[in-house]
Amino acid sequence: MKPKEHQVMKKRHQPETEAIRTQINRTEFLEHSAPLYLSSSFVFEDAEDMRASFAEEKERTIYSRYSNPNTSEWIEKVCKMEGAEDGFAFASGMAAVFSTFAALLNSGDHVVSSRSVFGSTHTLFTQVFPKWNISHSYFRYDRLEEAEALIRPETRILYAESPTNPGVDVLDLEALGQLARKHNLLLVIDNCFATPYLQQPIRFGADLVIHSGTKLMDGQGRVLAGITVGSRELIDRVYRFSRITGPALSPFNAWLLSKSMETLAVRVDRHCENALKIAEFLSSHPKVNWVKYPFLKTHPQYELAKKQMKAGGCVVAFEVQGGVDGGRTFFDQIELLSLSANLGDTRSIVTHPASTTHSKLSPEDRLESGITDGMVRISVGLEHPDDICADLGQALDAVK
Ligand SMILES: *Cc1c(COP(=O)(O)O)cnc(C)c1O
Repeated sequence: MKPKEHQVMKKRHQPETEAIRTQINRTEFLEHSAPLYLSSSFVFEDAEDMRASFAEEKERTIYSRYSNPNTSEWIEKVCKMEGAEDGFAFASGMAAVFSTFAALLNSGDHVVSSRSVFGSTHTLFTQVFPKWNISHSYFRYDRLEEAEALIRPETRILYAESPTNPGVDVLDLEALGQLARKHNLLLVIDNCFATPYLQQPIRFGADLVIHSGTKLMDGQGRVLAGITVGSRELIDRVYRFSRITGPALSPFNAWLLSKSMETLAVRVDRHCENALKIAEFLSSHPKVNWVKYPFLKTHPQYELAKKQMKAGGCVVAFEVQGGVDGGRTFFDQIELLSLSANLGDTRSIVTHPASTTHSKLSPEDRLESGITDGMVRISVGLEHPDDICADLGQALDAVK
């Protein structure tokens, strides 16, 4: 059984407060900040304690593949922010995605998913799950009637990300929740781009919410991590699969992440403020064909984004003039920003999805996911927005 050693607060507070004040029980030293529990295993009081612990008659820490105090603290914070009952933490976002599907699906099952999913998730659907006779069908993010037509008797999970990567399209979470309930499916949402601070999919009917903690949750480009949260019953299935197969998060990474959660709200507020400024700057630049950002009024799902998100997130997508050549010139001229595949870092990052993260998709699938050859994804960081705009501006000026 998973331990509940957290210091449970009687009164519920605002999410920002929960992210700061949720803490595992203090040790005899009465430390203010939670210590790091780098211990693979935990000891038993006596033979009876050992027997009862293994028989799952008590909730306690046994082995860090199952649970660890630092990991539990991070999970508890994410659960409180997402409005979830329980969770399990993983070594990476992809470990969370894989283990969640693998725990809940059997051979012969089918998944209906938005086509606009993270590149490695797409590879899971197309290359890994077929090995176990688990199939999928894709719908376009803005065509839920298409999704409904794809549902079969063996469909178990409805899956989506919102906002999407890298196109920052917004899916209607409430409509997805209704569709899932109507057909008795589990709605699983990858909420990585929004973070639990900006959007809580469970409020709109999601059964499970997945995050890559690697992105805005750590926010400083230091660790890989993943998490799945939801009802106690579903998480128990994810937990039973995962404690055997071993994708557990390292306590050190959990400790870092738990500290990062204390600043999540202030960091994400600034990321979003900067991102909106950068999106507005790009909108008026003559070398830019189009700009997409959920909280930009020109975004096709602006109203929907406003309804389900607190702010637009850190990712801005745009297209440089001149196709592939324009894109190359732009990337080679960038000075301050990093050319990297990560996102949600304090440092602003520019990526070319068509040649990197989404190169495994067929050209047709790329276009269906809104990824054109000249598309650039910026993960807007916490540098001064004037400096970010100046770097983007000088690189764009070089484009013919
Ligand atoms: C990065 C990412 C993942 C995978 O997370 P890792 O921590 O890199 O394994 C999954 N989904 C989305 C939306 C992501 O951005």
